[in-house]
Amino acid sequence: MKIVRFSAGDTLIMKKPHPCGENRFKVVRAGSDVRIICLKCSRDVTVERLKLEKNIKQVIEGGAGQ
Ligand SMILES: [Zn+2]
Repeated sequence: MKIVRFSAGDTLIMKKPHPCGENRFKVVRAGSDVRIICLKCSRDVTVERLKLEKNIKQVIEGGAGQ
């Protein structure tokens, strides 16, 4: 299984989009639980890291100008 590396401040592109349609999320806090914020509607979500990793399509380090 591939290990996904990311840290606070990175942007994650998810396989499954948020209900608002956005699939890019910013990492606020990375631990065993990860807090991410939707870049479109600014809602924050806390997800178990293992669960989250399965849903990551791409990691953009530093948030790509966001
Ligand atoms: Zn959203």
